[in-house]
Amino acid sequence: FVGDVQMAQVSFLPASRMLLRIQNYTRIHHLEQMRTDFVGNVSHELRTPLTVLMGYLETFGSAPDLSAKWQRGFNLMREQARRMNNIVNDLLMLSRLENDESEPPAAVDMPRVLMQVFDDAQASNAESAHLIDLHLDTPKNLLGLEVYLHSAILNLVLNAMKYTPAGGEISIIWEEVKDGALLSVMDNGIGIAPEHLTRLTERFYRVDSGRSRATGGTGLGLAIVKHVLNKHDARLMIESTEGEGSAFKVLFPKSRLV
Ligand code: ADP
Repeated sequence: FVGDVQMAQVSFLPASRMLLRIQNYTRIHHLEQMRTDFVGNVSHELRTPLTVLMGYLETFGSAPDLSAKWQRGFNLMREQARRMNNIVNDLLMLSRLENDESEPPAAVDMPRVLMQVFDDAQASNAESAHLIDLHLDTPKNLLGLEVYLHSAILNLVLNAMKYTPAGGEISIIWEEVKDGALLSVMDNGIGIAPEHLTRLTERFYRVDSGRSRATGGTGLGLAIVKHVLNKHDARLMIESTEGEGSAFKVLFPKSRLV
């Protein structure tokens, strides 16, 4: 009977109001799509001129007869062009993710993805000015899913490295838990104050924009991570204590594992 009553109520809603709601929803959806397309197109169009600029800055900036003043100028321009390039690439990635309606593949060799992430993080560790102790702990045969997963996890590891002072320690652990599988990226770095935790995955949100800019951050990394994880029905949990460190944990549900 309850079903019948509800049905009756729905049919009594004035048709004009229902139509208005549907139109509003369609309009919001349309505007959202326009925004995504616009960001995607602009980022795409900016890539070529940026590549040309970066190429010339590289060539002219390494000329042997430059005065110290010009050298400083070129270094600054190169650094800013690189920053712009990172932002454009991240925006492009976000808009691709937003437009990508394909289903993630059924399974992926998660230990293989993590090994690759680990190797990339080690290479960046070796290049960076401050060395960090990196650990990876993964069983051989626990499978997960892969769509942009590599770059999302690498993002978490590189963040841990960025926000952990020299001599710090980072652990990456992939383990089976009751409800599925859990990936933890843990550091003993600068940590995050509680009032920021819920906002970290917003686009361009940064706790300390000066510091983030200095470390080459765009503020888009965790927004990308969240999108990628949504595709896998995975949940991101962030635990952190200021001055002690952070743990970025990702729970992959059983249904998404093999
Ligand atoms: P960014 O490119 O600035 O690093 P992200 O979206 O990846 O942007 O991260 C958003 C903000 O979250 C960062 O600016 C930083 O303040 C904070 N953050 C992310 N990871 C960590 C971490 N492991 N330790 C401390 N702060 C972090």
